[in-house]
Amino acid sequence: MRLSRYFLPVLKETPREAQIVSHRYMLQAGMIKQASAGIYSWLPLGFKVLRKLENIVHEEQAKAGHIAMLMPTLQSADLWRESGRYDGYGEEMLRMQDRHGRDMLFSPTAEEMFTDVFRANVGSYKDLPLTLYQIQWKFRDEVRPRFGVMRGREFLMKDGYNFDLTKEDALHAYNRHLVTYLRTYERMGLQAIPMRADSGPIGGDYTHEFLVLAETGESEVFYDSAVTDIRMGERDVDFDNHDQCQAIMDEFTSLYARTDETHDADLFAKVPADRQRTARGIEVGQIFYFGTLYSEKLGAVVDDGKGGKAAVHMGSHGIGVSRLLGAIIEASHDDKGIIWPEGVTPFHCGIVNLKQGDNEADAACQSLYDSLTALGLEPLYDDRDERAGAKFGTMDMIGLPWRVTVGPRGLKNGVVELTSRRTGDNEELPPEQAVARIADIYRGIS
Ligand code: ATP
Ligand code: MG
Repeated sequence: MRLSRYFLPVLKETPREAQIVSHRYMLQAGMIKQASAGIYSWLPLGFKVLRKLENIVHEEQAKAGHIAMLMPTLQSADLWRESGRYDGYGEEMLRMQDRHGRDMLFSPTAEEMFTDVFRANVGSYKDLPLTLYQIQWKFRDEVRPRFGVMRGREFLMKDGYNFDLTKEDALHAYNRHLVTYLRTYERMGLQAIPMRADSGPIGGDYTHEFLVLAETGESEVFYDSAVTDIRMGERDVDFDNHDQCQAIMDEFTSLYARTDETHDADLFAKVPADRQRTARGIEVGQIFYFGTLYSEKLGAVVDDGKGGKAAVHMGSHGIGVSRLLGAIIEASHDDKGIIWPEGVTPFHCGIVNLKQGDNEADAACQSLYDSLTALGLEPLYDDRDERAGAKFGTMDMIGLPWRVTVGPRGLKNGVVELTSRRTGDNEELPPEQAVARIADIYRGIS
């Protein structure tokens, strides 16, 4: 993409309404624009990152055999009356009526909808296990929407629902989701720690929240510092293998890690003193097993293969996709702007032309652009007739992890400059080598 032809409304002034850095940078970098309280328009750069996050979520869900679909955002109240949640959900549910006076609502979550599709189409244990999910906009009329996309009213969520014959199978689904979530966050350059959580109104004994440590996080967390040493990494996972998934669950959740809702001071005191940590965290996901709560209420029942009928065991599993943009920026920025991890960056690298209009510099930039594009990479070429300082400022703010700077002086010696946004390290090298280096960096990433 050539910057002169892109739509990147970078703000010069610091937006006053933003209280935390991710919100400020998302506004300044022209990623979002507030439409009304807690509701945002996604401008091209923000939309691009959002799509990247969605892709990562889809890819990791597919590896575990989970199946994507899409449910409506506007739902009939009748289904929610069956589960008892139409009245029970409270003020966060946005209710409305259509022209015929029928009660509708904007889905804040979708247990009922998925269970309804299940009960209408699945009648036998032979069709299990089954996990269906979607990435869809949700609406919750939060009392205090704030921090930009972190606590919006309209937000994008991946929500998945498993249907299993037995509790054991459903707990395997729970473990499987833990594994896929850990992989998802790691690909986004984040460490999200699974913490024992409170199941709240959904009920059930099993639930973990995934928290990214950040000073601006809304939750207070208590953990054994050893949990931050564990990574999923590249390990091979057989998602049908119950024991392997259970072992990963145990590895990641047996050390102390809890939010304030489940914190237990006596248990925490048993963690070696030099490893006790109190910090703040951003909740980027949550998994639940809640048994037959919804399947009984809604009649999601299958032949159990032994001549009987059984209500299916279910769980639901959510990732805050739009909130993740904020979480990533909170975890990865400096005073000049965003620093995207390679896995989620909106463009793979920037190309800065120091002397737009100079035949040699223009040709070198074009050639870099063509070579990178031919390798399947997406550069953002700043071809505007602007001062170098302004071009660097924009690149730093929007946070592309790599920048190639091209100018007449370097070209005389046959070199361009490759700069890491994270470390600031510069290297002069011939253009072909810069291309090869960038291709190398992204090999296996996207
Ligand atoms: P919170 O405690 O932050 O209000 P929640 O526990 O009510 O969140 P879940 O029902 O677990 O949310 O939804 C799954 C994920 O969706 C959360 O882990 C979070 O990342 C994201 N999420 C929830 N509410 C919002 C919101 N208002 N804005 C943005 N993302 C949200
Ligand atoms: Mg939650």
